[in-house]
Amino acid sequence: MMPEKTYTKKGMLIVLSGPSGTGKDTILKKIVSKDQALNLSVSATTRHPREGETNGKDYHFMDEKTFLNMAKDGNFLEYVKYCGNYYGTPLSAIDGLLDKEEDVILEIEIDGGCQVKKRCPESVSIFVVPPSIDVLKQRILNRGISNVNNMEDRLKTAEKELKFAHKYDYIVVNDDLEKCVSNILSIINSERMKSSRVKCITNEVF
Ligand code: 5GP
Repeated sequence: MMPEKTYTKKGMLIVLSGPSGTGKDTILKKIVSKDQALNLSVSATTRHPREGETNGKDYHFMDEKTFLNMAKDGNFLEYVKYCGNYYGTPLSAIDGLLDKEEDVILEIEIDGGCQVKKRCPESVSIFVVPPSIDVLKQRILNRGISNVNNMEDRLKTAEKELKFAHKYDYIVVNDDLEKCVSNILSIINSERMKSSRVKCITNEVF
């Protein structure tokens, strides 16, 4: 699906968040593959690469000193410390694209999502939720977390994160992957047609 890019005034910044176990990664991959006008921002992190992850593609992996220097120099749109590691959205990853009227999507955790909304009120924030706590529990179990304490920790964190859902512009329930992806794509397309973003014949008249 290729949206009518020529009508957008400036690139749109989209933030996707949700508790772990909501299937964000899968959703994101599907969205980006179906909407070729979307650019995925590559975050910086101090966590170690997991097996199969590539530097520059999955993350810009760096040590803490480099990360904190970048933060001190104001090179991040937002950054957080999450589970002992730093994560941040480098301005260099998004600025050029937005200036070229390209749309950029960030998949970030909730604190970062709230920072982006404060800094860029015109950004579009989408929160993905599981259909119920029972389903979330089942999904976390399916990920192979056999340790009950670990599962309880994850559930507690998820419940805490769910309280932030109403700070986001949209809440999308992931009860069916295809439906969830299609709903998110509809939101993105509708946002592209907002009168505040559209630049076309109307600008010639007024
Ligand atoms: P993971 O270590 O599993 O790749 O990511 C852990 C969490 O960090 C996920 O919730 C992910 O969305 C979030 N995350 C990834 N990149 C960023 C970022 O640039 N900023 C923020 N605030 N969170 C991020």
